[in-house]
Amino acid sequence: MIDGISPETLAALERAALPDFPRWQQMITATGGCAHPIRLVGRRLTFTNSLDVIDSYRTADEPTGYLLTACGNRRASRCPACSATYRDDTYHLILSGLRGGKGVPDDITAHPRVFATFTAPSFGPVHRRREAGGKTLPCRPRRDHPLCPHGRPLWCRVPHSADDSQVGQPLCGDCYDYFGAVLWNAHAGLLWRTFTRTLPVALAGLAGLSRAALRACLRPSFAKVAEYQARGLVHFHAVIRLDGPDGPTSPPPAWATTGLLADAIRIAAGAVQLPIDDPNPDDPPRLLRWGGQLDVAPVHLGAGLDGVSDQRVASYVAKYATKGAEASGTVDRPIRTLRDVAYLDVTEHARRMIYTCFLLGDLAAYRAVPLRRWAHMLGYGGHFSTKSRHYSTTLASLRHARAAYRAEQSGHRRTTHDPDSGTYITVQEWRFAGSGLRRGEAHWAEIARERIATARHIQRERLKNNRP
Ligand SMILES: [Zn+2]
Ligand SMILES: [Zn+2]
Ligand SMILES: [Zn+2]
Repeated sequence: MIDGISPETLAALERAALPDFPRWQQMITATGGCAHPIRLVGRRLTFTNSLDVIDSYRTADEPTGYLLTACGNRRASRCPACSATYRDDTYHLILSGLRGGKGVPDDITAHPRVFATFTAPSFGPVHRRREAGGKTLPCRPRRDHPLCPHGRPLWCRVPHSADDSQVGQPLCGDCYDYFGAVLWNAHAGLLWRTFTRTLPVALAGLAGLSRAALRACLRPSFAKVAEYQARGLVHFHAVIRLDGPDGPTSPPPAWATTGLLADAIRIAAGAVQLPIDDPNPDDPPRLLRWGGQLDVAPVHLGAGLDGVSDQRVASYVAKYATKGAEASGTVDRPIRTLRDVAYLDVTEHARRMIYTCFLLGDLAAYRAVPLRRWAHMLGYGGHFSTKSRHYSTTLASLRHARAAYRAEQSGHRRTTHDPDSGTYITVQEWRFAGSGLRRGEAHWAEIARERIATARHIQRERLKNNRP
């Protein structure tokens, strides 16, 4: 033991002294400083039609004996590095759909677009944070101090701070409609899809056109992200844009204004109703709908005006794309058995949502939604971020471009091959050889991650200052 040096630092120094360290460090940098990198062994051979080998790579030739790849987890709670990458990609994906670039023409800025937030309805009063003019207000002040049928107060005078764990918890868990809340989450994705099918109907109605006539001149496109509220229900934030019939490359007709789009969104959201079987077969079906609060704001280039700036929208969406349900006090991985639920480190509200998922998951009526599998997500099993085909580039193509760049930087791909110049055949075989960081490696992975984070920050600041 060396005086004054922590065991972690010592382990990090020991790791750095091993002969494979320089190469390992290149690889961990190529993963972005992933916290749970995957070790692969295997080889790849690229040859031409006439069997000339143009590239050969074997992990057996690596000083490490393996190749590292990033875990790719989207969630910040699981891998800070991979989630930062995901967030960055989502940011660029959203921004290019608003400002052009990455295959989207620059005059996309002239297309009407809004940023809309779709909320869940209320399933019972919860503790909430209220604010006005920078001042925190009492949660639910009531002069008459009413009590619920269980004798619990239906009022609360506490001014809850943003990090108060009470926020989102029901005033009475026995009054709260857990069936309704879980069923809503479980069908929120379907509610969204129904909305996207209803929007063209609303647009056609406002324009006085048939559906076919509308399709011939106008096409809405979307990018949406799910956000968990403290009360454990999902919200959707969506960029909705109007294009001409061929997508981003064609202008929408002049009558298709931002105001018309906002009106159509309100009409379509209000019209969506999904009848879902009640857990009690004797009761009538429940009608699932959006909550009464629907925000629709025009998106502007840069800040100011009575809307939101394109950059804020992009960062907002990107931020939520890397969050899971854990923001609402649940866990970030599946729960295997009902017995485990009692021991989870979750809020009481989340625990009851999870129990309800297990309970409803057994009923034949909800066979279409795997509620047990989605229990840790409090019933929502949909995607965290989705976009329609014409919105902008795809995450996969951004990922491809980056992987190729990093592979070249780390020297792992020796020949760049141009897919247009001829046919190459690549044969590869890879085997999983373990995952996670080993002794002394976390320190260096964190340094790699921080370096990339700094570079990313500088790049984003530069982008911000390039504003017209
Ligand atoms: Zn990772
Ligand atoms: Zn309260
Ligand atoms: Zn009660």
